[in-house]
Amino acid sequence: MTGGAGFIGGNFVLGAVAQGIRVVNLDALTYAGNMDTLSSLEGDPNHVFVQGDIGDAGLVERLLSEHRPDAVINFAAESHVDRSIDGPAAFVQTNVVGTLSLLEKTRDYWKALEPAARDAFRFLHVSTDEVYGSLGETGKFSETTPYAPNSPYSASKAASDHLVRAFHHTYGLPVLTTNCSNNYGPYHFPEKLIPLVIARALAGEPLPVYGDGRQVRDWLFVRDHCEAIRTVLERGRIGETYNVGGNSEKQNIEVVKTICRLLDERRPREDGKPRESQIAFVADRPGHDRRYAIDASKLKNELGWEPRYTFERGIAETVDWYLDNQPWVQRVLDGSYRLERIGQG
Ligand code: NAD
Repeated sequence: MTGGAGFIGGNFVLGAVAQGIRVVNLDALTYAGNMDTLSSLEGDPNHVFVQGDIGDAGLVERLLSEHRPDAVINFAAESHVDRSIDGPAAFVQTNVVGTLSLLEKTRDYWKALEPAARDAFRFLHVSTDEVYGSLGETGKFSETTPYAPNSPYSASKAASDHLVRAFHHTYGLPVLTTNCSNNYGPYHFPEKLIPLVIARALAGEPLPVYGDGRQVRDWLFVRDHCEAIRTVLERGRIGETYNVGGNSEKQNIEVVKTICRLLDERRPREDGKPRESQIAFVADRPGHDRRYAIDASKLKNELGWEPRYTFERGIAETVDWYLDNQPWVQRVLDGSYRLERIGQG
């Protein structure tokens, strides 16, 4: 797999290794890669960490021939929309050029496998619902919704999705693609809405909310997403895409207020004031999509997957996780998580 030191990839590795699955984890350790997330796996023979770029064709070729995986799961990406507005080139480099290189090396490896291993092999590409653009008040994205990306991030993910599809239709590579809504949960980098709000709320700082805060996102607990990926990997139809959603549409402002309330209950401010008083509306992000909502009925009807977590349960567990894991957060905030970089493999 790739990108396993990031938020979703990290949760995926922890779950897979706990179930006895051997994982070779290729991650470039950009600012978003955090080895602290994987510290419990130190010395575990089922986790092989390799620091490197998905676009490094020689390295990818060597890893494939050395470890002979029966699947490649691509989580690695530049993933933060705001950063893609400031510097789109890195997004094209990793998400488009890097994915293309990974696809080429994986295709060559797959073609050389014995027939039974060839049949069993899968390439699963993890993508986003943002490729579909923005919705009005009603409707949901389905797998047949036309692509209409609005940010450099979603445009680069859309391009990678098309390349994955093309590698199936052109070369026969057995691919699967998942397009998922917004994730939240443990080990989420505190530049994204939910962990950012938790960290700032605890520090007594203003809680920035874009525009009027009425943008709607469908939220999915990260462990549900990891289970969906495993389901698609094991039983998805080759060449298909599957939308993954949480059935939890919430306005950003509702999310922020829920976090404030949960923190007030668990750790009241010293002055007794509600944390909602820290909310500060800021100028909207350019090209900010108004509403995303996912129709995940294909995944439910074909493969029987449904999210286990309601938003209420997932957000409460997430807030508790951040309260219980303040050292993990602090090391991200003060930058010390980047000081210990491992180069193996
Ligand atoms: P993340 O930014 O937390 O993690 C990305 C990981 O990829 C990091 O560990 C980083 O070091 C690594 N990486 C970046 N460039 C690399 C490169 N060139 N080579 C190797 N590794 C590289 O992202 P995330 O939130 O965990 O998202 C994982 C995947 O899921 C992404 O493809 C993203 O588009 C997709 N996705 C995310 C969400 C979400 O809500 N977070 C929703 C749907 C889909």
